[in-house]
Amino acid sequence: MTTDHGRAVLALDDILCDLTPETLTAVGDRFPAWYRDQAQAAATQIRTGLQNAAARGRVDHAEDMPAREHPGWIRLSVLDTLVRWFAGTADTCLHNPHPSRPQPVASAAWKPGLIVCGHCTRLLGIGTDSEADRTCDACGHIVAGDDTDPIYPFTVACGVLIHAAGVCANCRYWQTAA
Ligand SMILES: [Zn+2]
Ligand SMILES: [Zn+2]
Repeated sequence: MTTDHGRAVLALDDILCDLTPETLTAVGDRFPAWYRDQAQAAATQIRTGLQNAAARGRVDHAEDMPAREHPGWIRLSVLDTLVRWFAGTADTCLHNPHPSRPQPVASAAWKPGLIVCGHCTRLLGIGTDSEADRTCDACGHIVAGDDTDPIYPFTVACGVLIHAAGVCANCRYWQTAA
């Protein structure tokens, strides 16, 4: 991480933690209407996808949690991805999703700096039951992957970005329905 890049991430984290709905509305009003509409549609598409995934019991998601309640490591993982994307230094799928064309995009804690469009989420995949698939993204613990030592896959959404990660039981910080 370059110094400027690191500074941008930390500054954004401060802003994110202090965001109020009023600030968001004020910022949103500065974008052209077509951009707001597309970004809104993309965010809605992500939320629906997340809710469907959660309904099938595949992943947990903590999207209703205020930013400051997420631990620092996941906030910085999300912001690092967004800063790289906006700075043009992220790797992307061949469809080259760009912040100027709002659409749902995805990234994962285990593939830093890679942004893919909604059609290319398989690029974020890792072999099921591989060691990478069983590594906690918070503490690095490699879980056994059975009932006693499971991995908890989850996603957080930030605007049009959905960011995936997996944690061990010790690092899980949200309540599950089960
Ligand atoms: Zn793509
Ligand atoms: Zn852990």
